[in-house]
Amino acid sequence: MNEKLKAAYEGFGGENIFDVPLQKLNHTVLDYLNMKKNTLVKPEFRLLGCMDDGVPGKSIGLGGPGIVLAYLAGKRQGKTGWQAVLDGFDTAALVLGGEIDAVSSHEGCGACGIIYGFLSGEEQQQFAHSDDLGITFAKELAGKLGAAYKHIPMDGMTRPQKVHTARLVFYAGPEQFNIDYCMPNGLAFIVSRGILEKLADKTFAAETGMFLLETACKIATGESGLGGLATAASPFVIVPVGGNKIPLPVLQKESREVAGKFPGNVAVLEGFTF
Ligand SMILES: [Zn+2]
Repeated sequence: MNEKLKAAYEGFGGENIFDVPLQKLNHTVLDYLNMKKNTLVKPEFRLLGCMDDGVPGKSIGLGGPGIVLAYLAGKRQGKTGWQAVLDGFDTAALVLGGEIDAVSSHEGCGACGIIYGFLSGEEQQQFAHSDDLGITFAKELAGKLGAAYKHIPMDGMTRPQKVHTARLVFYAGPEQFNIDYCMPNGLAFIVSRGILEKLADKTFAAETGMFLLETACKIATGESGLGGLATAASPFVIVPVGGNKIPLPVLQKESREVAGKFPGNVAVLEGFTF
């Protein structure tokens, strides 16, 4: 077992969710969430953050501070590179407007790294590091929405540097979904699918949700994540969570489509509705 990952799991204390058998996992996760049902879907402070398993405090999880959504929206309009991010900015602002109190960026953001890879060489030179994309975007979005801005450095994160400790990803239908007060730290990615239903283009909403979900599965089962530990008997799991904006069966279907790309190491739990 990856030693860093093992150390991280030992640090969780209490029940090690990694040892919970697959057939019991849906029930175990639901029990955790039910402990703080109110703060889960009605958090006092609404923070937009990266879907990353190490970003604490968030109640909406997207790729970086919404930068992947912006990029995909701009790309749909025929743009490329940084221009796609700029042209998609208003779409991200529309989705998140009225829904958040603060926007966060974080150190070592993989989503920002993906977008950085889509920039031209000249565009990349404007940024010293891929994290700077997220910082620039998050500040701009916070300003536009009249929200606060915060940056989360590595020592403020709930996973070790360069190691992903998640065993699951919530494919979340509720607009707000803050697991901080009910789940052990660092165990889950959160992809906020429900909030994307504010998009008029429902096909684009589904495609964006599934792109983010696939990215989470890729990272979590990759070499900096579970790697060989994700097996058919103990897979990385997608947990669909129905909400008022999007019903559970739709999320289950999209989840199964994504899991199909990771045969043998990603499974979809039955999920539940909040
Ligand atoms: Zn990130």
